[in-house]
Amino acid sequence: MNFEFIWNNAISIPNCFIPITGAGAGPEGIFNIYRGETSNYGLAVHENTHKLIYLNWGKSSSFMDEGLAMYTQALATNKDKNHRAVQKFIKENKLFPLGKMVSFQIGKGGPETMASYPASGSFVEFLIKTYGLKSFKQTYILENRPPEGKEKTSTWEKVYSKSLLELEKEWLAWLRKTLKF
Ligand SMILES: [Zn+2]
Repeated sequence: MNFEFIWNNAISIPNCFIPITGAGAGPEGIFNIYRGETSNYGLAVHENTHKLIYLNWGKSSSFMDEGLAMYTQALATNKDKNHRAVQKFIKENKLFPLGKMVSFQIGKGGPETMASYPASGSFVEFLIKTYGLKSFKQTYILENRPPEGKEKTSTWEKVYSKSLLELEKEWLAWLRKTLKF
C-alpha cells in the first residue's frame, strides 16, 4: 500500500495530509484510524469528497482539491469554520496571498498548510456560491494543468474573465460581508 503513517498524531498519504486526526484518502481507498475519540464525521465527509471528486472530475491542484473537501466538511459540521479560521489568519497577519496559496502543496506542513487548508475551503465556497458549480468544475479541471500551461492561459481569466487578484478582493469582501467583520 502506498501511504505512510507519522506517529505524532498525524497521517500522511499521497493526496491528503490532515494533522492531528487519523483519516486519509488515497488511490487504495479511504482510511480512518479509530483512536477512541468522538465522531470523525466531518473527516469522513472530507475524505469521501476527495474520492468522489477523483472518480468523477479527476485530479486538480492541491488548493482546489483540499478546498472542495474543506468546504463539504464545513457544510457537514460547522459551516463558518473555514471562514472564521481565515478571519483569524487575517487578524494575525498570517494569511498568504491567494496567488501563492493556489500553488501550495497543502499537505506539506508548516504555516502554509495551516493557513491554506481553511483558506482553500473558504475560497472554493465563495467561487461556487458566487459563480456556480459549472464554472467551478471548469476551474477544478483547468487547475490540474502543469504550471507552464497555467502561466500561458490563466484559469481565472478563462473561466471568470478576471485576474486572480480581482477574485481575491471579491472573496475577502464577500467574507467580511458573510461574517460581518
Ligand atoms: Zn484532504
